[in-house]
Amino acid sequence: MDKTTARGEEIDTSVAHPARRYDYWLGGKDNFAVDRASGEAVAREFPTISTAARANRAFLGRAVTYLASQAGVRQFLDIGTGLPTANNTHEVAQAVAPDARIAYVDNDPMVMVHARALLTSTPQGRTGYFQADLRDPDAILSNPGLREVLDLDQPVALLLVAILHFIADSDDPIGLVRHYLDALPAGSYLVVSHATGDHMDPDQADKITDALTRGGGSFQLRSHDDVARFFTGLELVPPGLVSVVEWHPAADAPEGQLTVKEVSMWAGIARHS
Ligand code: SAH
Repeated sequence: MDKTTARGEEIDTSVAHPARRYDYWLGGKDNFAVDRASGEAVAREFPTISTAARANRAFLGRAVTYLASQAGVRQFLDIGTGLPTANNTHEVAQAVAPDARIAYVDNDPMVMVHARALLTSTPQGRTGYFQADLRDPDAILSNPGLREVLDLDQPVALLLVAILHFIADSDDPIGLVRHYLDALPAGSYLVVSHATGDHMDPDQADKITDALTRGGGSFQLRSHDDVARFFTGLELVPPGLVSVVEWHPAADAPEGQLTVKEVSMWAGIARHS
């Protein structure tokens, strides 16, 4: 069954979509039966997935706060935005710096419909929403609308949070990240979080990957070494590439109680010089 949005875009409700499944894990309402069934199938293989998703989301918030307040970043390119929920990137950034500018990019039409409706900006700052695929960097970087939001001659934080595990090796995720960074000036930052199988046996990792790819789409767990390759040539900000729960942990966060194994996601922030 397909639903059509007011803008005529098709929302496919016959297969699970990453954004809607993630929304289900976060306790949101913007998901369909197929997304909930997929989310439950993953939870059977990885029971802490909902809390892990919250821990990832909390990392995104801490990363943006750090960049806006400690690193002085005023521009954010958030690719793989996800459905709007609590603490969206521009809300976090503009709470620190009202003049912050944020370009959101996602390839899921439902994300874009909700984003356009819900992700408004402060008067001093600016936000824009673009439906595009991470695997097409030229289309994203040369989009005239995006260039109205972001000045690519000034530093930009590229946020690739919980998205690169959807990019298969055959699509050269390392080359893609490099392509974006080559278009950004010194003083820009790269933020990555990525699912890993490092703390589980290969059988569990296979079952999780199967549950996430049933019905199509790609998903790839990557090791610490693999994820570290995204940061080659950049200066990792302390504490380096660590679990999302170890990156500047917030003492009062409930997901802070999760172990590194229960969250199974690596996270890092690096400066481009
Ligand atoms: N970054 C957010 C949401 C992560 S969910 C957070 O960490 O909280 C992953 C998002 O990536 C989904 O919204 C999904 O639609 C999007 N996505 C997956 N593959 C993509 C691709 N190739 N291009 C653009 N967006 C993609």
